[in-house]
Amino acid sequence: MVDFQLTKSQGQVKEFIHQFAESVVRPMSLQADREHHIPDDFLLRLAQMQLAFSGEVPVEVGGDGGGAGEAKDKRGKSQKNRFAMIGAEELSWGDASIILSLPGPGLGGPPVQFMGTPEQKERFFGVFKDRSQLHFGAYGLTEPGAGSDVSGISTSCRKEGREWILSGRKCFITNGGKADWVVIFATVDRAQGRAGHRAFVVEKGTPGFTVGKIEEKMGLRASETAELVLDEVRVPEDNLLGGEVHYLGKEGFMGAMKTFDSSRPMVGILAVGIARAAYEYARDFVRENYLLARAIPRYAQLATTLADMKRNIDAGRLMCWRAAWMADEGIGNAKEASMAKAYAARMAMKVCADAVQILGAHGLEQHQFVEKWYRDIKVYDIFEGTAQIQRIVIAKRILREPPTF
Ligand SMILES: Cc1cc2nc3c(=O)[nH]c(=O)nc-3n(C[C@H](O)[C@H](O)[C@H](O)COP(=O)(O)OP(=O)(O)OC[C@H]3O[C@@H](n4cnc5c(N)ncnc54)[C@H](O)[C@@H]3O)c2cc1C
Repeated sequence: MVDFQLTKSQGQVKEFIHQFAESVVRPMSLQADREHHIPDDFLLRLAQMQLAFSGEVPVEVGGDGGGAGEAKDKRGKSQKNRFAMIGAEELSWGDASIILSLPGPGLGGPPVQFMGTPEQKERFFGVFKDRSQLHFGAYGLTEPGAGSDVSGISTSCRKEGREWILSGRKCFITNGGKADWVVIFATVDRAQGRAGHRAFVVEKGTPGFTVGKIEEKMGLRASETAELVLDEVRVPEDNLLGGEVHYLGKEGFMGAMKTFDSSRPMVGILAVGIARAAYEYARDFVRENYLLARAIPRYAQLATTLADMKRNIDAGRLMCWRAAWMADEGIGNAKEASMAKAYAARMAMKVCADAVQILGAHGLEQHQFVEKWYRDIKVYDIFEGTAQIQRIVIAKRILREPPTF
């Protein structure tokens, strides 16, 4: 049932992306962090070489299904999520921001995929077939008064004729400022809670839809995080994802949440990649500086810390792989996705802190990668559901589901 051996093609993907991360991504990482920006021509080259893309354009609308395409295992089951894990770990090993900055539908993709009609998928994913320019999608759920508790969103929507009118404010939206379109979650009536939610695709340039401030963050500085303002924005009824029939139950909210079942293991494995980068950096530092001093107590302490770092990274990776494998098998993975994300993010924070500690004062220098990874990793503990929220998801499931081993 369990096989930890990478297949030949998985091994090739790992090797190829690692080489790319080492020779191309890592060398631009510190500068991108300082300039809060990854140059467009760099991202365009990646898109044109079909090297890297953020999110998945489904095969049925002419995409490659997320890079691994239709890769299947011996039993004919999709390996898409497992391939994504392998590639993502290597890429984030190179830089913590890059995967969020790549062109593509990003987090905006899953709600279009899960809720959109065939025509909407064709329309909104269609833009990504053009690789001559940078195209981005984005996901607009968070508001100043509704982050973890998304049922409390106050961005309003009301129907007038064949249009919907949206008003409100979204914040911390990845690639929100440069996106061709953003999936905006709004409510017809706050009193209805989740049942009142609707998801719209709002296109760039729609009158009243503007970009507010771009956040200055502690970490992931090279990734754009934007505030979006909706002032009586009129969108055609065709931009309501799934059409009105989709919202007869709690579907609007479920669509928002389903996004996370696929993205949380991904966030977890990105954290694993950063942790591995920090661990390897610290390990090499110890090798170079303490190799001749094995007898001194300080070396013994450092060696034990390194052993713990390595052990915990491996545990985090296995949890992420399990959640990805379940997704490939079509098994519900909400609990395992939350477990992987909660564990990997906290584990990676500890590993990055330990790496700084091992380097001592050198670990605080801005030209040392560990200083950057220490700042970057905190974001992974917050977005896509904080550590506390993951625990609520896990607890609800273990109390409701029949006991397993
Ligand atoms: C870099 C970055 C990129 C982001 N990108 C996006 C994006 O693309 N799209 C998008 O919609 N959002 C995005 N976000 C927003 C992110 O999803 C939210 O920040 C996150 O959901 C937490 O919400 P909050 O910041 O409002 O914190 P709050 O919800 O206000 O939480 C504050 C604290 O209270 C705790 N807390 C809250 N509720 C409970 C509870 N019931 N029990 C125990 N503790 C609780 C939290 O764990 C946290 O520690 C991004 C955020 C960042 C930092």
